[in-house]
Amino acid sequence: MASKGKKDRGGIRSSIVLRLNLRLWLRLLGIYLTTDLLLLLLALGGLLLWCDRQCGDLAGLVEERGAPSAEATEWMAAGNYTVSALDTPPEGDGLRVLGRLIRFNALGLDLFGEGERTLSLGDVPLFFGSWSGRPGQGASYSLALANGGEPYVITLDLEGPVGVLAYAGRILLVCQLFGLLLNLLKNAGTIKKTLRPIQDLAAAAARLGNAPSAPAGMSPKELSALAGRLDQINASHLDDRIPVSGTQKELRDLAEAINAMLDRLEAAYRAQMRFVSDASHELRTPIAVIQGYASLLDRWGKDDPATRQEAIDAIRAEAEAMKELVEQLLFLARGDNDTMQVELTHFDLTEVAAQVFRETELIDRTHPLTARWEPEPVPVYADLGLVKQCLRVLVDNSIKYTPAGGEISLKLEAAEGTARLSVQDEGDGIDPQSLPHIFERFYRADQSRDRKTGGTGLGLAIARYIAERHGGWLEVLSRRGVGTRMTLVLPLTPVPGGEGE
Ligand code: ATP
Ligand code: MG
Repeated sequence: MASKGKKDRGGIRSSIVLRLNLRLWLRLLGIYLTTDLLLLLLALGGLLLWCDRQCGDLAGLVEERGAPSAEATEWMAAGNYTVSALDTPPEGDGLRVLGRLIRFNALGLDLFGEGERTLSLGDVPLFFGSWSGRPGQGASYSLALANGGEPYVITLDLEGPVGVLAYAGRILLVCQLFGLLLNLLKNAGTIKKTLRPIQDLAAAAARLGNAPSAPAGMSPKELSALAGRLDQINASHLDDRIPVSGTQKELRDLAEAINAMLDRLEAAYRAQMRFVSDASHELRTPIAVIQGYASLLDRWGKDDPATRQEAIDAIRAEAEAMKELVEQLLFLARGDNDTMQVELTHFDLTEVAAQVFRETELIDRTHPLTARWEPEPVPVYADLGLVKQCLRVLVDNSIKYTPAGGEISLKLEAAEGTARLSVQDEGDGIDPQSLPHIFERFYRADQSRDRKTGGTGLGLAIARYIAERHGGWLEVLSRRGVGTRMTLVLPLTPVPGGEGE
């Protein structure tokens, strides 16, 4: 199976390598061809300039001493130029340029007379055979001039320079051919090396999904197969990570992003698992108590009214605690699934605070209770029931964790666009190590103390959810042995269209 995966990856990779290689090769070919064309033009231009310069010097001589005799012309033919009287037009195929002769002298450029240039390349030697202007004719440059008197023609023999240029051109072409071949081989290696991290990424992704081959398929069929494989990612593979040792920054970033996503997924998954196991653990105790009392009743309590009553009371209390726990769990689960019913209305937060204050006065008579708020309304746009539930959690904690006689005070104020409702107590306080955890589900700062008070550790998790669901937050200020202040902060939202609504 593994070898099949390897083969698939190899197939995908080699097709990319081939395409990239071909593209790079064609680009290089284009660069070579452009360079060759430029070099050819430069060589031709340079040759013409050189010829003009030679002719310019000779024309100067002719002007000084007159055209040479026919005999002298014959002698000249042994060298590489001739100057002869023009009785017949110059022969030869090739480039004809009419224009003034440019002469270079000490003062710079000087335009000499009207002339007709003819450049003939003759038989240019190529790789196979030669390119011929006119068979049998050598490379030459002739310039016909009629400067004042007799017309004459200067002819330069270009066999030598053209031969050298053609030779240099051939060497250049051979070098370029080698360059192209070498590049073809070298590029393949470089591309393969560059693509290796992608291959590793694909392999790691395949491992995550427990897939037999890489999910880097390109066709629709392969893509749907990939979707299927992603479905297979499960908890047992969540701790797998993609190696990020590749050299390319972009690929490393991608791998790191995937790994970070897996980290978050794993953390969320583990939190969920912990939640479920904590919940089961919490339910085990009351169930065990109920079972214990049931067997007590069975054995001895049938005829003993005192035992019977004790068992009934205990079972009722445990059932009540279980009911509350299950309700809290359901609340948080609805929050997690985003299925919580939230009915937002405009109301005055002072009214809710006053209601909870009155309720607390009725149920708790062991702590002196004080309240402080302004006569002006503090308008918020929230779910009334949920805000009340949140405040009850805070007050409930203050009651539970404050020894009898300690004062509990409620305070409401509006400040900087927020409504701040705080519950302050003179209780045991929370130690600094526990403070970051008190909003976690099932967290209780002092297990032995909290077992006595009967809490489950879900109250503050619920309160935080409610605050955040309304765009607000909870603030805690606590010192061991001094007391605790918890503040619910909600955005202040004035009733649109005035007070009456
Ligand atoms: P539950 O509220 O679910 O019945 P609980 O009160 O133990 O249980 P939370 O309300 O979430 O759980 O509080 C978490 C922990 O934070 C508590 O166990 C307690 O240790 C600590 N705590 C919360 N409020 C106070 C307070 N006002 N004073 C001292 N400790 C507090
Ligand atoms: Mg609580």
